[in-house]
Amino acid sequence: MAETKILVVEDEDPVRELLTATLEGAGYEVAEAADAQTAQQLASDVQPDLILLDWMLPGMSGLEFTRWLKRDEGYRDMPIIMLTARGEENSKVQGLEAGVDDYVTKPFSTRELLARIKAVLRRAGADQGEVVELESGLAIDLGQHRVTANKQPVPVGPTEFRLLHFFMTHPERVYSRSQLLDQVWGRNVYIEERTVDVHIRRLRKALEPYGFENLVQTVRGVGYRFSHQL
Ligand code: CA
Repeated sequence: MAETKILVVEDEDPVRELLTATLEGAGYEVAEAADAQTAQQLASDVQPDLILLDWMLPGMSGLEFTRWLKRDEGYRDMPIIMLTARGEENSKVQGLEAGVDDYVTKPFSTRELLARIKAVLRRAGADQGEVVELESGLAIDLGQHRVTANKQPVPVGPTEFRLLHFFMTHPERVYSRSQLLDQVWGRNVYIEERTVDVHIRRLRKALEPYGFENLVQTVRGVGYRFSHQL
């Protein structure tokens, strides 16, 4: 499975460097930002699995950045751990209300930080559903990166896998090609909309031998919908 990516947003260079070294040492892939504006760009480019966010930032604060993330369907589910200085009790409450998953008080111990990251990632993984199985017999396992139809493995490419995972976790809703590009390919990835059609075709073809191709439905003039029943 791909490495877990963490976006570190912290303006104090020594603290950010320490965080990055600690996280990389623990096996995470790290992207760094010294301010929220850069972090906005990276949230889209990197699609992190977790954001470690300092509260006090120049310009847009950690709290404002959290609210910005939570307003957007593409970022809403990204787990956030807020870093606060001792004595900022009030900010903790505000942060939790804004949707922060957990917080760590500075100065922090490496062990505590890593334990909290692990716990938040575990919860987020459980929320998203590591395994999604439909009554019809189609199943996708995020942890094992595997698709099965009535227990038989279905070979799919990486993009088709992400597309199918998105569909299976968001069934019975119509998505336009541009929404699918945002959700599956990520924002700021400039790909032509008909690329979506190519991967939809491949996905249907992969599902066809098992009789599941009609789960992916074309909604004329709008886009695509995934139905969980044949
Ligand atoms: Ca700071």
